[in-house]
Amino acid sequence: MLDLTYEAPAPKVIAGAKHDWELVIGLEVHAQVASNAKLFSGASTQFGAEPNSNVAFVDAGMPGMLPVINEGCVALAVKTGLGLKAQINLTSAFDRKNYFYPDLPQGYQISQLYHPIVGEGEVLVDMAPGIARLVRIERIHLEQDAGKSIHDMDPHMSFVDLNRTGVALMEIVSRPDIRGPEEAAAYVGKLRQILRYLGTCDGNMQNGNLRADVNVSVCRPGDYERYQETQDFSHLGTRCEIKNMNSMRFIQQAIEFEARRQIAILEDGGTVVQETRLYDPDKGETRSMRSKEEAHDYRYFPCPDLLPLEIEQAWVDDIAASLPELPDEKRARFVTAFGLSEYDASVLTAEVESAAYFEAVAEGRDGKMAANWVINELFGRLKKDGDRAITESPVSPAQLGGIIGLIEKGDISGKIAKDLFEMVYTEGGDPAQIVEDRGMKQVTDTGAIEAAVDKVIAENPAQVEKAKANPKLAGWFVGQVMKATGGKANPKAVNDLVAAKLGL
Ligand code: ADP
Ligand code: MG
Repeated sequence: MLDLTYEAPAPKVIAGAKHDWELVIGLEVHAQVASNAKLFSGASTQFGAEPNSNVAFVDAGMPGMLPVINEGCVALAVKTGLGLKAQINLTSAFDRKNYFYPDLPQGYQISQLYHPIVGEGEVLVDMAPGIARLVRIERIHLEQDAGKSIHDMDPHMSFVDLNRTGVALMEIVSRPDIRGPEEAAAYVGKLRQILRYLGTCDGNMQNGNLRADVNVSVCRPGDYERYQETQDFSHLGTRCEIKNMNSMRFIQQAIEFEARRQIAILEDGGTVVQETRLYDPDKGETRSMRSKEEAHDYRYFPCPDLLPLEIEQAWVDDIAASLPELPDEKRARFVTAFGLSEYDASVLTAEVESAAYFEAVAEGRDGKMAANWVINELFGRLKKDGDRAITESPVSPAQLGGIIGLIEKGDISGKIAKDLFEMVYTEGGDPAQIVEDRGMKQVTDTGAIEAAVDKVIAENPAQVEKAKANPKLAGWFVGQVMKATGGKANPKAVNDLVAAKLGL
């Protein structure tokens, strides 16, 4: 079961202004559907392909070409909706959003304005262990992406690459429930994590497969609560929309800047104009792109080429039955099943691949020890090794589990285990075999340890006297014995024997 004893964080208040102001943020996230084919054609969606090689006639807007819905994309949108605990609409419909753009040769984008496939859902955004905010999802609709115009290849001409034209996007629209820049970034991070767990979008922000339009407004304390009570937007300030952000860092910077810009206008007695803005990361500022008056009239109307999209409840149920365990559930289970801290559990579940790796290591072993090894040793080593992904780890879960098993059996100490880990990391091999072959086994034979202890005591009479007067100095003898045995003596046995021999 999910532990929902969460506390909501306080809204961000902007310092340095004459009055107190609070931020209100709503995001429209465009997530590329993880499908090999486009939304209405069989053309490939492969990233980085030769320009204009992934274009079907329908993508190129050839006369008489008809779109055919890709069932796989619909299934992934439904899966996403279910993952966000959202309402699935068994009937939805496609509309034409009319505008001319060179990289969308149809002259319109097929989207879902009036009847989206997914309705209201939610995302629980973690801010710190035990502190989270519930961000409501308003809707998710399916639509086509546009292509890419290239203006910097030739001084006189522009080029167009239609490979992306017609690729399926899910537009995930949040309610204005986000109250600060860090929360906005955390929301995008959580959404990305859920989509990656579901396998419905790869979340690659660098390639533009996940990008956000960020709506920002400011209001006075108390206004947001009034909006929450009534759902009446007139309690909120006028919003500006910052388009096409594909970096969490830039999202935060743009919101900070935009909030200060709006506050300065309002405190000067002015009014914020609703408009679309662009963020310039080099200058660290947002710039006006177009105002509401210049906004296009898209003349939406139902797409006559496509029938309303009817899906069956049984099909939705099948998809629901195939949902994987999601991040919140997995994290809660790691805390209870393996005795991990919330923090460790969230680090391990950040990516589904690291969670799977950890589980394979921890199977039948001490969970906390497994978590420490994965987080501190393995993650640390991968980071040092050019920030390698867990899927590229040279040490397999079986090998790391083997190392931990040797510690648990008392065959090696924690210190030797670190050396062994490095050997396995760089050379590979079976940990138990390496320990055997290289004589790394811990000496638990008390006879051998006793001999070493006797030797150190006999050779250092002055130290013996000091230790008898001050038992804390016994540690020196332990250190000497460990050194003499090449770190292989069982530390507990050494401790016990030193204490006994010194009569402490
Ligand atoms: P549009 O397509 O005109 O941008 P949408 O309904 O698709 O409109 O998206 C509007 C987005 O703006 C939603 O994410 C919504 O939560 C957010 N939003 C609406 N009003 C405000 C406001 N006053 N402050 C901040 N965000 C807002
Ligand atoms: Mg918008």
